[in-house]
Amino acid sequence: MERFYQGEFYLVTEPSFCKGCGLCVNSCPTNILYLNGKSRIAVKDIAQCIFCGICEARCPDFAIWVVKSTHPTGKIYDSQIRVHGEVGE
Ligand code: SF4
Ligand code: SF4
Repeated sequence: MERFYQGEFYLVTEPSFCKGCGLCVNSCPTNILYLNGKSRIAVKDIAQCIFCGICEARCPDFAIWVVKSTHPTGKIYDSQIRVHGEVGE
């Protein structure tokens, strides 16, 4: 599992779940996703992510998702990272 973040928003990927269909890559409005040499999901530049959630909505294999922290520190814990949506304390 890989995670990328900007402040309280996290983009999480699970490349081992990815079958390389490219749906998320072709749907991302900021064009920051690509398939690596093993045809698994990868992220180019998290700074350009707008956390719109389109990739999560399109992925048939639950291999990419957005998490928003509701914790005052803006952090999320490893135990919460598999949860889709908003997570707090
Ligand atoms: S959340 Fe939106 S901008 Fe970010 S990677 Fe997914 S589709 Fe692209
Ligand atoms: S939509 Fe899901 S399975 Fe398809 S390339 Fe993206 S992460 Fe992989």
